[in-house]
This record gives sequence, structure tokens and C-alpha cells, in this order.
Amino acid sequence: MKYDLIVIGSGPGGYVAAIRGAQLGMKTAIIEKYPTLGGTCLNVGCIPSKALLDSTEHYHNAAHTFKTHGIDLKDLKVNLKQMISRKDDVVKQNVDGIQYLMKKNKIDVHQGVGSFVDKNTVKVTKDDGKSDEITGKNIIIATGSKPASLPFIEIDKKRIITSTEALKMKEVPKHMIVIGGGVIGMELGSVYARMGAKVSVVEFMDSLIPSMDKTMGKELQKSLKKLGFEFYLKHKVTAVKSTAKQVTVTAENSKGEAVEVKGDYVLVSIGRKPYTEGLNPEAAGVKLNDRGQVEVDEHLKTSTDNIYAIGDVVKGAMLAHKAEEEGVLVVEQLAGQKPHINYNLIPGVVYTWPEVAAVGHTEEELKEKGVKYKTGKFPFMASGRARASMDMDGLVKVLADAETDEILGVHMIGPRTADMIAEAVVAMEYRASAEDIARMSHAHPTYTEAFKEACLAATENRALHV
Ligand code: FAD
Repeated sequence: MKYDLIVIGSGPGGYVAAIRGAQLGMKTAIIEKYPTLGGTCLNVGCIPSKALLDSTEHYHNAAHTFKTHGIDLKDLKVNLKQMISRKDDVVKQNVDGIQYLMKKNKIDVHQGVGSFVDKNTVKVTKDDGKSDEITGKNIIIATGSKPASLPFIEIDKKRIITSTEALKMKEVPKHMIVIGGGVIGMELGSVYARMGAKVSVVEFMDSLIPSMDKTMGKELQKSLKKLGFEFYLKHKVTAVKSTAKQVTVTAENSKGEAVEVKGDYVLVSIGRKPYTEGLNPEAAGVKLNDRGQVEVDEHLKTSTDNIYAIGDVVKGAMLAHKAEEEGVLVVEQLAGQKPHINYNLIPGVVYTWPEVAAVGHTEEELKEKGVKYKTGKFPFMASGRARASMDMDGLVKVLADAETDEILGVHMIGPRTADMIAEAVVAMEYRASAEDIARMSHAHPTYTEAFKEACLAATENRALHV
């Protein structure tokens, strides 16, 4: 079979590239090794984690804030089996939706492991060992990533688990030890802390979510402490041992002393690594770098002319929406268009409660670059909307150029900031100044007023409600 475009991998990068290819008139095929489409994000990532975060947030509110709202409940308890089953339904609706989109766009779906035979030919090996070969003018590698671990940790998937197992637990842990204070660990730690698990986080760096603005990590730590989290920051994990019912994590603190933490589950969430197993990129002359990523140029072209790579398998933020933008970019380039991605404006979100969301430069980056900037902050404590919903933790922080007032970075921690950050992305894409936002009407009462107030604060310290 001969195609204009073959996409290997059906995650958000791959399936979006395939749809855009079909929209642009390319005869398109997509290859996926798993029986369901949608990749990490839909099957074991973004969607199931958000489904569990939503369920447990309801439970947490029912247990802790309903009474204050004047709602009395009796015999409240978690039905974990039902919670996981609802999550599975949500995943199914989403992955079935992708199957429908493939059909609608007349994209051929080939189920099996795709491996290069040469630069135009991909062998697809099905579960029963049978294989087909398909050829394509252009090929996109979108094979994604898998959880990373440390060399001395053996993931047994029973007591020592990754995010994939944490999404289908059969019991609520008594004490979950999370290795890594990044996004995935804080989200899944929150899921189980809200249901009553003790959660201890062991993190090598001195703050949580260390790649984000430092203020966010500090604020998030305060909120998660209220939820019962315990933190071992600046601790380097040196050993992880498990027995049938117990796990022991040994870490070295900043004084060089050994610290032991015992629990019943360890979630290893130290990041993800690019995945190219079985792909056989060498057969097509596609080079990987020393981090295992497919090496690409600024057009996302690999070392072979007609082969491109996108998403988690290449450099950059490991985020679904980044993968999607890259999928569209590659295909539009192939169609002769001149698309562009501003990587500085890819937002990052942590779906804890409060949510953390950011776009643009952190304060630390601006300092390092020697950029002169001014800061405007507004706490949710001062927001009428946040008081009404009892979500007063957190703040919005706006960083603007000291001379031109252009917004350079926006960092938010608070209620629904995952959705609010879109306004900051639009503002920065159009190179708005803090004063531009400060002069726009924001509906009252909404959480978005906090962004306007932070912009007022950044303009001339003119915030109205603090
Ligand atoms: P993937 O989604 O990993 O898809 C790659 C696909 O390729 C897989 O289906 C794989 O089976 C297939 N494949 C691999 N090799 C082959 C082969 N040789 N032949 C055929 N098929 C192959 N990101 C966000 O933006 N927001 C979130 O809220 C978020 N939450 C997350 C929560 C968790 C718990 C996890 C683990 C991740 C989360 N992410 C989130 C990250 C997000 O899932 C990834 O960034 C995104 O899925 C990357 O998309 P991708 O298309 O590059 O690859």
C-alpha cells in the first residue's frame, strides 16, 4: 500500500498529524501497537489522571467543605472500584472518539508495531506475529515516551509502581511514597491523599515542580501540606526495597545522612523517557541523540529527508498540546505552508488543587538572562469569587518588561488556573503589555479578575482590591 503520509504512533502528536494530513488531502495511514488509539495521553496519562482528580476532588469537598456550605452528608465513603470503572469509561469514550475521527477522515489504521525497513517502508507486525509492509512518501515518528526509573529501582508493578499502575489501584494506599516532586507525582499523590492516604514526597531538588517559577513550588507545597502531604526535599534516593506488604525508600539528606521512609506503595515519578523500542530507526538512517530522543532540526526533520519526528520522542516539553502543535506544523510544512510554533508560549499546567498554570519566562530565567522586569501579584484571598467558593489558596504573578511593560511570564496557582492561563497565552501571543490587560473588562465575580489585578499591580502598583 502506498501512502502520502504514514504516522507511527497514535498519541496526541500522531493522531492530530494524521487528521491534519487527511484534511490537506494526503492519503494517510496511522500505525498503533496497542488495540486502542490515543497513546499515553488518552489511555494512561492526561485523561485518566484528570478523571481520578475530578472524582477525588468531589470526595474531598464532600468530606471537608460541604458542611461549611450547609450541606450535611451521612456515611460518606469512597467506592474505589466504581471510581476506577468511571475513569475507564471516560478513557473508552475518548479513545473510541479517536477511532471515529480516523474513520471520518478516511485514515487507514494499522494495528501493530511499526518498524522501519527503509526510508519509505514500514513493516507492521501484529500481535499474532503476522506482518504487512506499507510504503509512504513522508513518515512521521510519534512514538512517545515511557516512565523513566533509576538504575537501582526495580519496578515490580505491585508495590513499586509507575503512573500507569497508580491509575488502576485496587486499594487506597495507607502510605504512598512518591519519588519525584514533579507534575505527575503531585497529581497522583493528590488523588490518593484526598482519599485518606498519607503521602510522602522524596525530591532531589529544593522545591516541588522545580522547572516552574519557584513561587509556584512554594505555594503548592503549602497547599499540599494542608492535605497531609509530607516532604523530603533535597533528598537523594539511594535504595528502594519491597516485601509483600511493605516498601522502604532510603534517601540521603543534605547533611549526607541516610533517611528511611516506610510505606505500602512507592510511586516512581521521576520523569519520562523517549520510546523507540522496535522502531528500527537505523534502517531508515534516522539518528537518536545520547538521551534516546530522535534528533530533529528546527523543522522537526530527522537525519533522513522524508522522515520527521514530533512529541515526547523529540526534545522539548513532554506535553500533549506541544505534541499536537508539532504534528500540525510538520504536516502543514509538507503541504507547502509556513507554520510556526512559539515554544515559549506553550503553557504548563499541574492539575492539583489549587491548580498551577504558567506560560512564558519564570522569574529565575529573567534574572539569569539579566532582563529588567517588574512583578505584579494578586492573591486569591482578595478575590470575591474565590471567597464565595472557598478556594482562597494561591496567587497570580505577572512578570512584565521594566521598560516596555510587555508581559514576559504569567504564573498562577489557584482555582481553575488551568483554564485561566489561556488568556495569558493569547495576551502574550499578541505581545500585550500588562496595562493592556489591566484596562480590559473582566467579568465580576470571576477568578479571571485576579489576572487583571496582577496586571494592574505590575503596571504601576495599581491593584484595586489589595
Ligand atoms: P504518546 O501519547 O506517548 O503516544 C505514542 C504512541 O505511539 C503510543 O500509543 C504507543 O503505543 C505508540 N507506539 C510507540 N512505538 C510504536 C511503534 N513502533 N509502532 C506503533 N506504535 C507505537 N500532558 C499534558 O499536556 N497534560 C496533562 O494533563 C498530562 N497528564 C499526564 C499524566 C500522566 C499520568 C502521564 C503519564 C502523562 C501526562 N501528560 C500530560 C503527558 C502526555 O501524556 C504526553 O506528553 C503525550 O501523550 C505525548 O504525546 P505523543 O503523541 O508524543 O506520544
